[in-house]
Amino acid sequence: MCGIVGFYGPDDVAHDIVFGLTALQHRGQDAAGMATFDGNFHLCKGNGLISDVFRPKQLRKLKGNIGIGHARYTTQGSGDAELAQPFTTSYPFGLAMVHNGNVINFRSAAKRLHEKYHVLPKTSNDLELIMYTFASELRLKNLDALSVVDIFDAVETTQELVKGAYATVTIIAGHGMLAFTDPLGIRPLVLGRRMTEAGPVYAFTSESTCFDYLGFEFVQNVGPGQAIFIDQNFEVHYKNPYQLPKTFCVFEYIYFAREDSTIHGRLVARERVRLGKMLARKVIESGIQPDMVIDVPSSGYFAASGLAEAIGVPYRRALVKNNHMGRSFIVSSQAGREDIVRKKLNPIREFVEGKKIAVVDDSIVRGTTSRRIVRILRDAGAAEVYFISSAPPIIAPCIYGIDMAMSTDLIAANYTEEEICRYIEADKVIYQSVEDLQELFAEDKGHGGGCFACFTGNYPTGDITKYLGHIQEERESHRGDKPRKDAGGLVPSVSAKAPAPTEH
Ligand code: SF4
Repeated sequence: MCGIVGFYGPDDVAHDIVFGLTALQHRGQDAAGMATFDGNFHLCKGNGLISDVFRPKQLRKLKGNIGIGHARYTTQGSGDAELAQPFTTSYPFGLAMVHNGNVINFRSAAKRLHEKYHVLPKTSNDLELIMYTFASELRLKNLDALSVVDIFDAVETTQELVKGAYATVTIIAGHGMLAFTDPLGIRPLVLGRRMTEAGPVYAFTSESTCFDYLGFEFVQNVGPGQAIFIDQNFEVHYKNPYQLPKTFCVFEYIYFAREDSTIHGRLVARERVRLGKMLARKVIESGIQPDMVIDVPSSGYFAASGLAEAIGVPYRRALVKNNHMGRSFIVSSQAGREDIVRKKLNPIREFVEGKKIAVVDDSIVRGTTSRRIVRILRDAGAAEVYFISSAPPIIAPCIYGIDMAMSTDLIAANYTEEEICRYIEADKVIYQSVEDLQELFAEDKGHGGGCFACFTGNYPTGDITKYLGHIQEERESHRGDKPRKDAGGLVPSVSAKAPAPTEH
């Protein structure tokens, strides 16, 4: 998961890019980068947060009224600073590109690049596969009279050859700004506009929340497989979306996206409240009677408040998160990682002591973080702890740009609910129903349906068997470069079928 932006207007755009990326910082904190163009490309990128990478001195050099930016969370390739985006090429003429997502046929796409176009990708970043496939297709056109049709032709061939989930924004030097997505539109991308006295400023961003900060009006979502090109006269051209059902990532609503973003007409915060309300049925059926509903901050908040409202139980914030721990607390030992969760989440003992607590988190991935949270609540005196997951059990890996884990690491892919309950030392574990989730995001009002692959194992891009091994090898080769969400090691003893039961 990464955050991307592109701005094109009458004046320099570097500051808009910084503010836009800052609003998307939650989508990637490993690296950041920006490319602007004023007749020459100006590039600045490196590892770290937006505020670390873009200093006033650098910003002064990032001239140009067209520019793109990227906040990276590493899902493909290593965490080396040279893999930070944007990438640029002078082949066949100046291009600068950013993407959010994952190419799944990266081996065959790289082979084809070499054999068909005689291009060798320089790095392990899959953006190169998209960029050089697009560039190679452009090269086949009449470069002295490159037309919008030529550009959209090159996009279409790229979409056919490069499989996976991706949203991209590209500067085409001397021509304009291009954005396009994979044919299913799995990763989000939106177009906005701000009118100024000097003319319109257009912006593509991963999430609409950027527009609120920067005074932009929302124009549209970039549809599945759609391409949008803004030429030098700020005329907007559209390549029609594919006639495939929209298949956006539903995990954006559960966890990834900011609560104040609207994706495909759905406000993320509202969908999270709905997810919480939907959990009420299973909570009531289970027979538990919590005294209080709390959240795992901060992604569990809206679902927790929705659940509390639906079952008529008070909601409290009883875990306080320290947001200022930074990323320097990278430790290698399991004990050290557990200690960090404890330091990050402090319970309010007065709220918890002697109470039956229903704690709502967005999901359970490996189970290690969930177990630590249950322990924190028990140490604070909770009488009982019920762990409620806003997401259904995650039983299959995401291959579309979300680095959650491979199957062997996913606790729900390997254990029953009862075993998971014992492992995380809860009194009850309750998951969202996958059927309820599918019903919530079923095609309605023209908004399309969702990708549910990590909950069902049914991947919307078809049979992915031949790619899974490659993806696993690729991830294994970079494992340990950085801590992951729920990074506490693998599923407890993958070789032992049942986690050690704990009596309460
Ligand atoms: S597999 Fe899951 S996380 Fe990945 S795109 Fe689909 S819904 Fe999103």
